[in-house]
Amino acid sequence: MRKPKITVIGSINMDLVTIATRMPMQGETVLGETFRLIPGGKGANQAVAAARLGADVHLIGAVGTDSFGTLLLQHLEKEEIVVDGVKPVTDVETGVATIVISEGDNRIIVVPGANYTLCPDDLERWEEKMATSDICLLQLEIPLPVVERAVAIAKRHGVRVILNPAPAQPLPDTLLDQVDFLTPNEHERDIVLAGRSIKKWTQKFIVTEGKRGVSFQRHGEWVLIPGFHVPVVDTTGAGDTFNGAFAVALSKGMALEEACRYANAAAALSVTKLGAQTGMPTEKELESFLA
Ligand code: ATP
Repeated sequence: MRKPKITVIGSINMDLVTIATRMPMQGETVLGETFRLIPGGKGANQAVAAARLGADVHLIGAVGTDSFGTLLLQHLEKEEIVVDGVKPVTDVETGVATIVISEGDNRIIVVPGANYTLCPDDLERWEEKMATSDICLLQLEIPLPVVERAVAIAKRHGVRVILNPAPAQPLPDTLLDQVDFLTPNEHERDIVLAGRSIKKWTQKFIVTEGKRGVSFQRHGEWVLIPGFHVPVVDTTGAGDTFNGAFAVALSKGMALEEACRYANAAAALSVTKLGAQTGMPTEKELESFLA
């Protein structure tokens, strides 16, 4: 069977994760317990989720020409993601998220860095690749004008677009009109709509609800596709796994309900392991879970 072709346009970050027994007070230094460099960024995470499930994934983004950028590109290539659309940037550092975890609490600072150097014109040379994709998958960790141009290019060629509106921000009507699917969690849905009624776009909303699963509207009624019961280790990246898997499912021609069940299952498997990408299942693992 032909492999699904997915273009992901989004962020690529290095997560700098420090675990300490307690958070430092202002001006204080404490000794930490462990430190890890973990590849992240919603764009990269969703690209990995789709690639593990057997899709041909083309990633468009930007990294600095620094050591994090080099490590991240190597990592993405290991996941068999095509990275010729990732722009190397010389004067801005690779995006980083500094994460401090302590006593079940976390504090995070994200510096978008190279991710924010991506501009709409960068997309023009990838128009043909986007045009021949089954799905274009986007999030909001890159500048909004890039998202808008990507959606316009995809729709010019009749390619379906999934927009995962995270981190949430109010979105213009024109963008909501053009995308095929929006995949917010419940909190993001309200921010995206910013007081407007969901009515006009209700058919496009696929709302993730954590372990409850995911819901969408059919014939005017909200339908819940229930999540899977699994032993939870770390829910980081559940949303990213859902989105990558949802894109694969739609590319394979699954109907909406079946695609939601498939993506729920992938996301459930991902929460059984520590780290956003570590637990993302392969096609085989997902098939045997669903069998
Ligand atoms: P995150 O920001 O943690 O990546 P999110 O807030 O974007 O997640 P959620 O709605 O929490 O998204 O989760 C996305 C999907 O992941 C859910 O629709 C569900 O399929 C799956 N999921 C999340 N948490 C669990 C859980 N505890 N058990 C099983 N499945 C889960």
